[in-house]
Amino acid sequence: MLLFTPGPTPTPEIIRVAMSVPTIHHRTPEFEEIFKIVREKLIKIMNMPEVLMLASSGTGAMEAAVTNLCKSHALTINAGKFGERFGKICKAFDIPYTELKYPWDTPASVSDITDVIKANPSVDTLCIQICESAGGVRHDIERIAKEVKAINKDITVIADGITAIGVEPIDTANIDALITGSQKAFMLPPGLAMIGLSQRAAAKIENSSKGYYFNLASELKNQRKNTTAYTAATTLIIGLKAMLELIEKDGLEKFYKDTKKRALAANAALGAINLKIYPKSPSLAMNTIYHERAKEIRSIAKKRYGVNIAGGQDELKDKLFRINNMGLIAPHEIAWALNVVELALDELKIRSYDGAANRIFTQEFFKGQ
Ligand SMILES: *Cc1c(COP(=O)(O)O)cnc(C)c1O
Repeated sequence: MLLFTPGPTPTPEIIRVAMSVPTIHHRTPEFEEIFKIVREKLIKIMNMPEVLMLASSGTGAMEAAVTNLCKSHALTINAGKFGERFGKICKAFDIPYTELKYPWDTPASVSDITDVIKANPSVDTLCIQICESAGGVRHDIERIAKEVKAINKDITVIADGITAIGVEPIDTANIDALITGSQKAFMLPPGLAMIGLSQRAAAKIENSSKGYYFNLASELKNQRKNTTAYTAATTLIIGLKAMLELIEKDGLEKFYKDTKKRALAANAALGAINLKIYPKSPSLAMNTIYHERAKEIRSIAKKRYGVNIAGGQDELKDKLFRINNMGLIAPHEIAWALNVVELALDELKIRSYDGAANRIFTQEFFKGQ
């Protein structure tokens, strides 16, 4: 089965091999050395001055960022399932919040956000996705964060970059907490979350932190010394070291360039077989298609051809399909996934097969090489 869901993504064999070592104890100089290397590499790839690794899925890092950084009132952006989650976290911890809601294909408007902030001086935190994976929308985080800071530089900007880190370089100048998880662009098994912190956010956490397991002040204190407050996810961190080395081998720039080329070529191929790209501002992390028969297309792709592509969520569960574009993906693999979608359209008598998806993808991807 080819796994083409936007999380979890398939773990390359070389990474699985790197993780197949006997378990080492986390309180040892050997592991601390690995931790230090990974920490430095994460600081570089996340483009944040501080970084924390947590043994949890991505949502744990969302919760930790909100509970440790929001002191009075959060503004949450809900353009899908993951943005909605920020509101649910606030609710669970009795943190007052205001939610701005958007259709799942629509990026947040900068002026909506600045209007709420101007009208509510108690708002001290903005919680937003970079890519909202529910509909594949890319919010203009760079502009939003900049305008928010121009109103009040003390507002903490929490950016869920779970499907953005390792996809494209992010301008982090105005971001205070940048979240990611192991099972998306880093192609690892699930279970490791990471938070990049600005100096301002780190200072805020040191002054007043909350919680027990997700107490980021105790993590900061420990992780600056290359250890963790509780047992580290040692095997995943060993895998992350191997993955970051693999990405760095040909340079980060090439990694991002290939991801972008693949995303654009795949969208062109899907357009060539008359499919509608769902988001108004598509993220490079995935190719998201709206189709009344999305469920049947996915089912054929999986059952007949062994390609697992994701559906939608909630009301769009059976109307969307999402093809992953995060990580190291060979062009022939994505070309095959697109070809399979075209074959499914033929089988459903929606469009006769002529090989356009594979052809357009290949032409676009290799254009100019
Ligand atoms: C996958 C994802 C999450 C949630 O991560 P879990 O690891 O399932 O907790 C959060 N935000 C976005 C944008 C995601 O894509």
